[in-house]
Amino acid sequence: MYTGQEILFAVRQLRPYMEKMSEEISPEMVSEIDRLLACADAGEKVENLLMDVCAGHALLRSWLAVALDVDSGGLRSYGRLPGNTSQIAAVKYACPHKGCSFEWPVSKAGQPVPPCPVHLIPLELQSKPVPSNKEEKR
Ligand SMILES: [Zn+2]
Repeated sequence: MYTGQEILFAVRQLRPYMEKMSEEISPEMVSEIDRLLACADAGEKVENLLMDVCAGHALLRSWLAVALDVDSGGLRSYGRLPGNTSQIAAVKYACPHKGCSFEWPVSKAGQPVPPCPVHLIPLELQSKPVPSNKEEKR
């Protein structure tokens, strides 16, 4: 079970890494995702459309399935979380690969931690808050 907010969060975290994730993710797909994220910023309910676009690519679909803790078959629609989600002190996971800046903040008990979308390796817990400098190293 996941919310529209969680979809937006997951896609936004993933967005800077999409092109590195797979060459098969087309520029058209990325620009459609950008367009939908802009709609979401404007307050439109586009989460299901966003999921439809992402579900068109196997790697995006399976990554989001992990990030959102669902079967990939359940990616096309979303449900609301029940109200009793417990907040925990925010911790941050990050890709251990040198030069990779993928991060995944966790603020809720039981929230899944997806692998790095570029390197497909498990993220490691960061013991202290990581400054969010987005330096790109290619
Ligand atoms: Zn990585």
